[in-house]
Amino acid sequence: MGRTSKDKRDVYYRLAKENGWRARSAFKLLQLDEEFQLFQGVTRAVDLCAAPGSWSQVLSQKIGGQGSGHVVAVDLQAMAPLPGVLQIQGDITQLSTAKEIIQHFEGCPADLVVCDGAPDVTGLHDVDEYMQAQLLLAALNIATHVLKPGGCFVAKIFRGRDVTLIYSQLRVFFSTVLCAKPKSSRNSSIEAFAVCKGYDPPEGFLPDLTKPLLDHSYDPDFNQLDGPTRIIVPFVTCGDLSAYDSDRSYPLDLEDGSEYKYTPPTQPPISPPYQEACTLKKKGRLAKEMRPQDCPISTVDTLPQ
Ligand code: SAM
Repeated sequence: MGRTSKDKRDVYYRLAKENGWRARSAFKLLQLDEEFQLFQGVTRAVDLCAAPGSWSQVLSQKIGGQGSGHVVAVDLQAMAPLPGVLQIQGDITQLSTAKEIIQHFEGCPADLVVCDGAPDVTGLHDVDEYMQAQLLLAALNIATHVLKPGGCFVAKIFRGRDVTLIYSQLRVFFSTVLCAKPKSSRNSSIEAFAVCKGYDPPEGFLPDLTKPLLDHSYDPDFNQLDGPTRIIVPFVTCGDLSAYDSDRSYPLDLEDGSEYKYTPPTQPPISPPYQEACTLKKKGRLAKEMRPQDCPISTVDTLPQ
């Protein structure tokens, strides 16, 4: 496969590079904003699970005019610096990270909290959905500490079996909760975004970082919410009808007839997890899987029965 094959298969990947975004995810936030005017009146925002930083790029460009906005970006992984974005490296499910974020907003709450967090997907759907829900709830917990009344929270959500439970939890804190699928998010992916507007915690609610908002040790029957406890939230697709379809391949030739020119990624990863494997491979020291027929006879003979 050539280096342009991904450009052909994934139009948003290609456009991200051409427009200087660090990741194709930038279009998801832009399309969510087109539909829900997320950035209106926003001057202070938190970007949780931010690396490599395309949402932070969008936020710092869109909010509060040139440079007057305030964006705090948090991720487990190191992220290359971005002008006007304060970075925290840490795990959002950890108390220490949450405290570090909160202290930046003491006395001056945020208007918007976004979270595009995704765990390393295992392929075991139940596990992936559970991990995703934990990230979302950690983000919501942080949001309850830093959001101003009326503020907005947007978080990636996996539309799995227990999603209604999460909607119910979100409805406790926000007057409007919707589930949105931007055009740049592939149909084949269970990913969507919970868009929660009008932060309005229940009377007497005191944010408490030490208590998880959703305790999974409850009776499993509680999962099967029905009747008045079952919240059905509207599902909205967003992105202009003329927007590119993320599940289609597009030819590389440009509409104006000019020749396609490859664009390298805007910000290559600064310490990717595969770096060590690449170095070992270059030096010919990457371990290869051994098939039984490749084993020296003596080893095969002495294998335990
Ligand atoms: N919105 C980002 C952008 O536009 O560049 C892309 C985010 S990427 C899909 C998901 C990120 O979630 C990864 O960078 C990963 O390190 C981060 N993440 C996953 N679990 C996390 C955790 N517990 N705490 C902080 N970040 C986490």
